[in-house]
Amino acid sequence: MESIDKLKGTFDKKYHEAKGTVSSAVIKRLPRYHRYLGDLLRDGKLRISSAELSELMEVTASQIRQDLNCFGGFGQQGYGYNIRYLYTKISELLGVSEGYNAVIIGAGNLGKALAATHMFERRGVTRLGMFDINPELVGKKIYGTPVYHIDTLPDFCKRNNVHIGVLTVPKESAANITDTLYEAGVMGVWNFANMELRSPSPDMIVENIHLGDSLMTLCYKLKSRSKEEKPRE
Ligand code: ATP
Repeated sequence: MESIDKLKGTFDKKYHEAKGTVSSAVIKRLPRYHRYLGDLLRDGKLRISSAELSELMEVTASQIRQDLNCFGGFGQQGYGYNIRYLYTKISELLGVSEGYNAVIIGAGNLGKALAATHMFERRGVTRLGMFDINPELVGKKIYGTPVYHIDTLPDFCKRNNVHIGVLTVPKESAANITDTLYEAGVMGVWNFANMELRSPSPDMIVENIHLGDSLMTLCYKLKSRSKEEKPRE
C-alpha cells in the first residue's frame, strides 16, 4: 500500500494543479462537506470511506468522488478519506484559514441571534464588534461582543482590517451602510436585510441571504404535499 506521505504528495500536486479551476457548482457544495467533515473530526474520526460519507450526507458516492477529485481527491481504495487532511484542504480552498474579521451591523433580534452562535468561529471568521444606532445598546456586550455606535463604523473598519460586514439592519438602511463599508475598505457583505442588495463596486462581494424566502419555500412544499395526500379516514 502507498504510504500516507506519498498519498499526500499526490493530493497536493493534484490540488495545486486544479486550484482556481474548481467549478462553481463544486464550490457551492464544499461548505457542506466542510460542515460534515468538521463534525466527524469533533467526534474523533480520522478516516471515512466515500460509501460512509455518501450515507451520512445523502449524496451518491460517485458524486462525492467526483467533487473531491476536482481538487485532487484523497480517497484511496481500502483507506478512505483522511478527514483532517481533506478538511484542511477544503478550509484553505474556501478561505476559512484566511483569518477574516467581521462586524455585525444591527444589534436587533437577528444580529443578537447570529452573535449567539458559533457560526463565525467555526469558519475561521473573528467577530470584532457589533454596531447599532440605538444609544441604549451602545456600550453593552452581546454574547461577549461589544456594541459600538454606527457613527464609529468607518474608523473602526479602517483600524481593524475588517473584511466582512454582516447586515442585520432594516432594509432601508442597508444600501447606505454598504457604501460606508466599501469606502472603509470592507470587501464582503453578508446581507440579511431581506432585500436584493447590489454591490457598489465589482470589488465588493455581496451575499444576499433570504431566511423568509426559505421559510416560504418550506410552506409551499408542505401545502403541495397536503394537497397530494389522500384524506385520512
Ligand atoms: P430584527 O429581528 O430584524 O433584528 P428588530 O425588531 O430587532 O428586528 P429592526 O428594526 O430590524 O429591529 O432593526 C435591527 C437593529 O438595527 C436594531 O437594533 C436597530 O436599532 C438597528 N438599526 C436600525 N437602523 C440602523 C442604522 N441605520 N444603523 C445601525 N443600526 C441600525
